[in-house]
Amino acid sequence: MQINNHYLKKMYTWLLPFICILCGQPAEQNQDLCRACHKMLPLLIHGCPCCAIPLPDSAAGFICGQCLQTTPPFNITHALYCYELPITKLILELKFNQALVNARLLGELLAAEIQQKWYRTSPLPSLIIPMPLHKARLKERGFNQALEIARPIANMLNLPIHISHCHRRKLTQPQTMLSAAERRKNVKGAFIVTKNFSGQHVAVIDDVITTGSTMVEFCKALKQQGAARIDVWCCARAGHASD
Ligand SMILES: [Zn+2]
Ligand SMILES: [Zn+2]
Repeated sequence: MQINNHYLKKMYTWLLPFICILCGQPAEQNQDLCRACHKMLPLLIHGCPCCAIPLPDSAAGFICGQCLQTTPPFNITHALYCYELPITKLILELKFNQALVNARLLGELLAAEIQQKWYRTSPLPSLIIPMPLHKARLKERGFNQALEIARPIANMLNLPIHISHCHRRKLTQPQTMLSAAERRKNVKGAFIVTKNFSGQHVAVIDDVITTGSTMVEFCKALKQQGAARIDVWCCARAGHASD
């Protein structure tokens, strides 16, 4: 009897225990993370309801100064973690060491939060758009991390992922060292959206939001194409409101 290779592979995966990505110990759930490491992840407790920038306890529930000054083109940002260890490690290894298993884990963690908390009482967006990556960056990296994080979410929530008609045409350097004005100038016109999203409620997903100006610029392009409501989902949010 000839043994089917695909079947063998499936059996092998099934028999192997899940191992925690962070500590190497057997994982307790059907996930690449053990319960102890899961508990240690730096949940973002108080974020601005609009842009998710971490806020001190005293400002919980308030919109941050920047969003009050200029209303962003998105409606809400849901960020699961603060951009701190070990989330930084998971994201950097995903992007620069091709640790695609990290994208699966982060996507699964986000999907659980979306289902159990963020959208328990409100309607889900009807499609997911991963933050586009410039084609030079895509060639160099081989994948778009935002798309890889979106895949398990789309599977678990049964939502379509939209990747066509949204492109990044400007290759920019990291924005962290630039002033707010320089950041806006740096990303101005960075995206092109060629599809009409009239009346649609969309979710834009990214791995990490640092200054937020890239997300603002992409969402502006989606709004120009008629998107009615934009919810931003990200694994981690960097920065402090006082920065
Ligand atoms: Zn662990
Ligand atoms: Zn804000």
